[in-house]
Amino acid sequence: MLNSNFEKSSTYFTRARKVIPGGVNSPVRAFRSVGMNPLYIQRGKGSRIFDVDGNEYIDYVCSWGPLILGHADPRILKRLTEYAHLGTSFGANTEIEIKMAELITQIYPSIELVRMVNSGTEATMSALRLARGYTGKSKIIKFEGCYHGHGDSFLIKAGSGLLTFGIPGSPGVTEHTAQDTLIARFNDIESVEKLVDSNKSEIAAIILEPIMGNAGVIPPRRNFLKDLRDLTKAENIILIFDEVITGFRVALGGAQELYGIDPDITCLGKIIGGGLPVGAFGGKRKYMEQLAPEGPVYQAGTLSGNPLAMAAGYETLSVLRKDNIYPALEKKSKLLEEGFKENMKKLHLNFSLNRVGSMMSLFFTDQKVHDFNTAVTSNTKLFSMYFQKMLENGIYIAPSQFEASFVSTAHDHKDIEKTIEANYLSLRGLL
Ligand SMILES: *Cc1c(COP(=O)(O)O)cnc(C)c1O
Repeated sequence: MLNSNFEKSSTYFTRARKVIPGGVNSPVRAFRSVGMNPLYIQRGKGSRIFDVDGNEYIDYVCSWGPLILGHADPRILKRLTEYAHLGTSFGANTEIEIKMAELITQIYPSIELVRMVNSGTEATMSALRLARGYTGKSKIIKFEGCYHGHGDSFLIKAGSGLLTFGIPGSPGVTEHTAQDTLIARFNDIESVEKLVDSNKSEIAAIILEPIMGNAGVIPPRRNFLKDLRDLTKAENIILIFDEVITGFRVALGGAQELYGIDPDITCLGKIIGGGLPVGAFGGKRKYMEQLAPEGPVYQAGTLSGNPLAMAAGYETLSVLRKDNIYPALEKKSKLLEEGFKENMKKLHLNFSLNRVGSMMSLFFTDQKVHDFNTAVTSNTKLFSMYFQKMLENGIYIAPSQFEASFVSTAHDHKDIEKTIEANYLSLRGLL
């Protein structure tokens, strides 16, 4: 039920702005790019969320990816409660950390050792330090529009909130740091080869989202990942896959399983926390053994491997594996894609739609979106009108053109049908 009344949310936002920068603890939550005040959420259940004004939405943000089982899944709640009663944190070792690491290393053959952290940002920052520590080299290559959290080295031509707000880089990142980050174009191996050639023996690592998810969803072209793998092997560069979104999302074994490419180091996050703050990075033993206390590269965390977070994550991953949820998720996501495409046909619209498994983006451009440059041809004004109309029709998608929509196992066929109908009404409302 939607009463299109956002009164309480607006009151909360006014209060929040007095004590929290911009009123939010993460920029994209502010809804600025879609020209409205943000919603305050009271609760979630399955595929639905409910705001403080009593509006109900089918949710495709799913906490920006983590909630692949939907909201308040009873299996996760049960496990969390069980663990909470044992104490919330010890700063000492617990068995669930071993179980988590065993599970991840079983599912990801490229990961022999894995260390837990508290966010995706921590995972990528630590992976980068490790790559630099191991190789003794300073420079890295990242791709335009890829987002790897808010570590200094990555805040250059990044996706997600920076792209949403048109921020090319961030003040506070020193020139020195910025100089060590070289920028290549996604799906363009020549742009990488050029950088490698002109920085011979200086590049420690190449990091990328194997499927871009933070400039909207952009899949890799045929052979792009393989070409990167070959190039990095030949040049002794560490290849880091940032699978914070794609890990356990596009397949149990992530994009590396889907495309059959083994990176040297993998970063995980989002889904592996089952809705609690967790990140991880792992890879071949020879790299991971460089970490303290085994090796000299320092990395630590008071709450790393926190038992509640491990319990939620472990339960989530166990369900994903036991139930093999991926074929059903693919089917539902495909229905959604086909429904949207059918709607556009009926309305004589020709917007670009990209989907890999249960992650999908509708770009308001008729160009095929295969990198940052094509993504930004999107009409963001049109997107923001579409966003508001979808909300009015009871569908909650990310408040930015440059984000993915996520389908969860909790979305049922009725939800998908309702979403396709809302998409039709919302697109028609733009004409
Ligand atoms: C979300 C995200 C991150 C950062 O994770 P946080 O938990 O927000 O710090 C890093 N990389 C990718 C690909 C992401 O989508």
